[in-house]
Amino acid sequence: MCKLSPFNHKARKRFGQNFLTDQGIINRIVCSVNAKVTDRLIEIGPGQGAITQYLVEACPQLQVIELDKDLIPILLAQFAKYPDFTLHQHDALTFDFSSLTTSDTNHSTQALRIVGNLPYNISTPLIFHLLTYRDRIADMHFMLQKEVVKRLTAMPGEKNYGRLSIMVQYYCEVEHLFEVPPECFVPPPKVDSAVVRLQPYHVLPYIANDVKHFSHLVNLTFQQRRKTLRNTLKQLIDIDTMAMLPIDMGLRPENLSVADYVNLSNLLIEVTL
Ligand code: SAH
Repeated sequence: MCKLSPFNHKARKRFGQNFLTDQGIINRIVCSVNAKVTDRLIEIGPGQGAITQYLVEACPQLQVIELDKDLIPILLAQFAKYPDFTLHQHDALTFDFSSLTTSDTNHSTQALRIVGNLPYNISTPLIFHLLTYRDRIADMHFMLQKEVVKRLTAMPGEKNYGRLSIMVQYYCEVEHLFEVPPECFVPPPKVDSAVVRLQPYHVLPYIANDVKHFSHLVNLTFQQRRKTLRNTLKQLIDIDTMAMLPIDMGLRPENLSVADYVNLSNLLIEVTL
């Protein structure tokens, strides 16, 4: 199903195109980002420029990454009056974001600020891709499916708490900003949306000695969400060693905080060495 937009561009499902048309919501996003003229601002999926036009006014050196080649001439024409505006026709999932950082005269790199009303089908892999550049990112503002925002912000014991909550909260401060109903878009998506702010920590609050192990542990326990730690960890360590750990093995994965997982991973590495 395609709908014609005011630009005669057919919204494409395969590119997750739901164009924002509600001026109030556009304003709220732009205010939340609060871009400064010197920011290294990047927009992913500018579409027909609904948010872009306000971002580029605040920050004329805005760079955008858009996959749909049919939108490129529309965007280039729309923003031709901004000589420092840059458009990358590329897939954001494979884009090298380190190519966007520059060194100033003091050789310090200026962190990226990233904004996007993201295609919902790529939002989780894209967040993981961006997290590999977290040292170069100041903050990210994303419109996502409301369910995904709930998972990103969920705390231990909550229904939506899981792998995504833990892995993203390990690296970032996560803030739910506001919700957006389907009628704010053309065509309207089938789900509710919400805007979230992710700010990678300069200094991680808890440090996993081996992030791969930590991530594997989180995956492993949530694969068996209803099992106690005792039951799941049996495959990793023997019962006697388990009894020595200062962690309640009767807990289920959803009861452990990020700090608990980091502790558990560090302890398991120690006792299995
Ligand atoms: N920001 C616009 C458009 C949102 S729709 C608005 O708010 O109105 C999502 C946009 O992301 C579309 O323009 C779509 O073409 C683009 N897109 C989809 N997949 C992409 C990808 N992998 N990389 C970059 N852009 C992508």
